[in-house]
Amino acid sequence: MGKLGWTMSGIRKNYIYGRWVEGDAVTENRNPARPQELIGYFASSGVAHVEAAVAAARAAQPAWAAATPQQRSDVLARAGAKLLERADEIGRLLAREEGKALPEAIGEATRAAQIFSFFAGEALRVSGQKIASVRPGVEIEVTREPLGVVGLITPWNFPIAIPAWKVAPALAAGNAVVLKPAELTPACAHVLTEILHEAGIPAGVFNLVMGQGSLVGQALTDHPDVAAISFTGSEAVGRSIAMACARTMKKVQLEMGGKNPLVVLDDADIETAVRCALNGAFFSTGQRCTASSRLIVQKGIHDKFVEALDAARLALRLGDPLQADTDIGPVVSENQLSGNLDYVALAAAEGCEVRGGGRLNHEGFFQAPALFVGATNAMRSSREEIFGPCASVIAVCDFDEALAVANDTRFGLSSGIVTQSLKYATAFRQKSQAGMVMTNLPTAGVDYHVPFGGRKASSLGSREQGPMAMEFYTGVKTAYEFA
Ligand code: NAD
Repeated sequence: MGKLGWTMSGIRKNYIYGRWVEGDAVTENRNPARPQELIGYFASSGVAHVEAAVAAARAAQPAWAAATPQQRSDVLARAGAKLLERADEIGRLLAREEGKALPEAIGEATRAAQIFSFFAGEALRVSGQKIASVRPGVEIEVTREPLGVVGLITPWNFPIAIPAWKVAPALAAGNAVVLKPAELTPACAHVLTEILHEAGIPAGVFNLVMGQGSLVGQALTDHPDVAAISFTGSEAVGRSIAMACARTMKKVQLEMGGKNPLVVLDDADIETAVRCALNGAFFSTGQRCTASSRLIVQKGIHDKFVEALDAARLALRLGDPLQADTDIGPVVSENQLSGNLDYVALAAAEGCEVRGGGRLNHEGFFQAPALFVGATNAMRSSREEIFGPCASVIAVCDFDEALAVANDTRFGLSSGIVTQSLKYATAFRQKSQAGMVMTNLPTAGVDYHVPFGGRKASSLGSREQGPMAMEFYTGVKTAYEFA
């Protein structure tokens, strides 16, 4: 079963002050492709564990901040190397835990490794600025300092990459961390913790507390000794975290949902359009915040595009994520699947021609990818994030209407256009109200070394990923000196 031995019994514990600590209760984690298959038992924790983890982080943070940038960089580099060495094995675990097809799962584990290596470099680049004063003899220096203890709350859909892209910059900047992973995917977070431990992270600098969001996540958010919360997850929880952070005056960063438009113009290369839509809407079982859930298609190409996409949809191979020929794995949970099926029924009731979308007669939580043809942008199925393999197809007359429909959403994470026209590609890039804009590429699929994030109800606070990620994890100090 591989080095991790995840089928064996034994409870995976919290990690507090460099020790493995039991929770208050135990939860089990099962494979969504084969729910009878146990992945492991995990600690489920309470407020006292959050208290202990925050106290540990608080005690350890000053020494970590005072360590040399090289010392911090070395730990991150070792973690990156270990993640890379074990990327295949972690990818297999991720595929079993979350249901992502194996190549994507290994890709995600590899990305987590690359993120740690990237921030091993950034740890060395924390710099300041000297600025001339308007007064004679006065010198001004602007520097960035760590915040202290940061709380990181992560979702299940990228269970190793998202923890990595929060933990690595937080540590690089000299903060101590308490990570609260999603209930559905503790195994990946646990492996990351083992790797940080092996990489020599000093006791207390990194802590893992597993458990319910409403208990552990909330206690972390409310804790007075936590300086900042970085959260990725649903809009509803994001809003409640923003309000709690306002009450306790914490710095907050939220990455939330999307209803990302992919515009297909009449002049699009049909193969590119189908490839972008297929990948954006259905890969990772549509469980990506950047998924192309609204396909906005100009009338001249509409029918041809729908038929070609539908044929490609029907050719997708659904099955066990570990099998080499699987394109799409299961939905992550029974609960998520039942929500998706409700939206399929809603789209039909709203008047869409629904293609696919039914529960498959498989053992696990499998759903046929769905197209809601004939949708309008006013329908609820076109406005609310489904977070499954479902895409609305909305017909439009011209570029101006396509742009207006693309921007007519509460969200603003990612957007895309497929066209051969430089004029329309440029206009779309300039006028799209999304934080990330793609031309002839799927709305999902981003690099790890450039800013990631959106606008409107998709994101709040500074960007994640790339050098800009360091902004959130540091505070600015302006020092004046008269010699
Ligand atoms: P979720 O909001 O249910 O949970 C996210 C995390 O918040 C989990 O760890 C959960 O335990 C915790 N949580 C729940 N209630 C809490 C509370 N009251 N206080 C503090 N923490 C609490 O989201 P999910 O179902 O795990 O993930 C799916 C969502 O994440 C989708 O909406 C998706 O769009 C979004 N997402 C966004 C991005 C992005 O970068 N924009 C990336 C991935 C996923």
